[in-house]
Amino acid sequence: MELLLSEEEIQKRVKDLALEISKDYKGVSPVLIGILRGSFVFLSDLIRHLTILPEIDFMSVSSYNTLTKSSGVVRILKDLERDIGGENVIVVEDIVDTGLTLTYISRLLMARLPRSLKICALLDKRERREVDIQIDYVGFVIPNKFVIGYGLDLAEKYRNLPYVATLEESEIGEPEENTP
Ligand code: 5GP
Repeated sequence: MELLLSEEEIQKRVKDLALEISKDYKGVSPVLIGILRGSFVFLSDLIRHLTILPEIDFMSVSSYNTLTKSSGVVRILKDLERDIGGENVIVVEDIVDTGLTLTYISRLLMARLPRSLKICALLDKRERREVDIQIDYVGFVIPNKFVIGYGLDLAEKYRNLPYVATLEESEIGEPEENTP
């Protein structure tokens, strides 16, 4: 495990992002949609630095991933509680990798006719992008390595780390390999 982003670096960048969003949405109450589970740490830090009054909702999706690869097929496990028709929506995601998950989620949300829809992601693994998707607010562009911490997991562990670290292939292991 190797440190990629320290707690201090993350906190500073999250605060800057919140100030940028507050400036762009001055006088507007956007609906922030956290994509569970990875984004909950980022979202909770982000909203505490906002100087506007957002509403918060959550959506939980499962993307039929293997441990480290996305398939782009998304199933809704928990939908929004509220209607977003006519609202200014900001989707808050932990990491954009191939971009398939967010493309799917954006299409799904656009069909509900929000007034506007923007995307905010803490981490952007740009090298791995398979579909062209605009990320309006990006915390950090990171190299093509598997990361954990600050909400991001490996098999549900490490989400509680206050920093982001990279794991080597040997530390990850695919589930197939563990199955007898
Ligand atoms: P995408 O559809 O953009 O390829 O994948 C997005 C999702 O894959 C993220 O929401 C996250 O759940 C997962 N993911 C992608 N890269 C990583 C990574 O480096 N670490 C962790 N923990 N999850 C990742």
